[in-house]
Amino acid sequence: MAVVSASTASVLRSAAIDDLIAALAARGYTVIGPTVRDGAILYEEVSSAAQLPAGITDEQEGGTYRLSERGDDALFGFNNGPNSWKHHLFPPNLTLWKAHRAAGGEITYDEQPDERPRYAFLGVRSCDLAAIGVQDKVFIGDSYTDADYEARRRDAFIVAINCSKAGNTCFCVSMGTGPRAESGYDLALTELLEGEHRFLVEAGSERGEEVLAEVGAEEASRADADAAAAVSEECASQMGRELDTDGIKELLYRNMEHPRWDEVSERCLTCGNCTLVCPTCFCHTVEDVSDLAGEEAERVRQWDSCFNLDHSYIHGGSVRNSSPSRYRQWMTHKLATWIDQFGTSGCVGCGRCITWCPVAIDITEEAAAIRATDLGPSPGDERGISADH
Ligand code: SF4
Ligand code: SF4
Repeated sequence: MAVVSASTASVLRSAAIDDLIAALAARGYTVIGPTVRDGAILYEEVSSAAQLPAGITDEQEGGTYRLSERGDDALFGFNNGPNSWKHHLFPPNLTLWKAHRAAGGEITYDEQPDERPRYAFLGVRSCDLAAIGVQDKVFIGDSYTDADYEARRRDAFIVAINCSKAGNTCFCVSMGTGPRAESGYDLALTELLEGEHRFLVEAGSERGEEVLAEVGAEEASRADADAAAAVSEECASQMGRELDTDGIKELLYRNMEHPRWDEVSERCLTCGNCTLVCPTCFCHTVEDVSDLAGEEAERVRQWDSCFNLDHSYIHGGSVRNSSPSRYRQWMTHKLATWIDQFGTSGCVGCGRCITWCPVAIDITEEAAAIRATDLGPSPGDERGISADH
């Protein structure tokens, strides 16, 4: 059972969320929070609580997402939408440098500016906190540091929100990533709707405590702390999906030739939506673009996807020509090879890839189908990998 300590928690009235946004802005942060745009709840720049999706929720299923009214004033009563904090820490398009050729032929280069946005993220759910942790390993881990990611991430102020409802495609409990934020935040909020609309707040850092002191937080009572624990308990019991992770790495390694890869590929459009919405996917490519006059050129980093044929193009051909091989690459990377590569699963159970797959392919269903018909170890080939996919 979730335990929340009243002695270290505070309470904020819902009206004080505006003060929280203002206090963060006053400290020089660009505040990114949830807001409704284009029929979805997106994480975008906000300057007041009026921009938050008050009273709005989402209904999610495989291949389905729609907004509806909740009938109350909840500010965070929804689940993750199609974008994530990745859009801000690892932007989809990033100009690495620009070059200009003057009339005399002299070429000058503009490097990336040293200044990056200083972000405060408002409303980070625990699965997405885990996803940020995964991308930290990728971009600022031991062997390689991505300067742009590091500059955006280094000083980011994180206000987590403990989920009060689970979506139909959520499975953070299976992945051990939620629904309560345990660490990695400056402040963590739990929205309480019974009685007065308020938030239980836990500080996770000194600067979190400083901001909290500025916005009129009051001491939490035992009843407030128990109410917050009950919210997390209830949410944990509502998970729409589950995924059995027991020995999943070995399971997938020994089923590289499973017929399920062919079956799922009959539906898979190789559109790459699942990789674009995934908060941990990090594949990218680099393109050089020039104008027709040959006077301006730039190098741009763009998100790429293992579902693109060109992504595995080397020496005159693609390594993964077939769609079964591309789906298998994505799923085995998420749930198996990522563990060898980064010491953690590449999936945090956010459910976005299920909701946003146009044909409702479901990673939990695919993993369960392989487990139910496990081919067992291939003799003499522990991982069962062959060269023809
Ligand atoms: S699994 Fe779904 S979202 Fe992913 S590439 Fe295939 S069709 Fe697109
Ligand atoms: S693989 Fe799917 S459920 Fe897992 S983190 Fe990525 S989008 Fe979320």
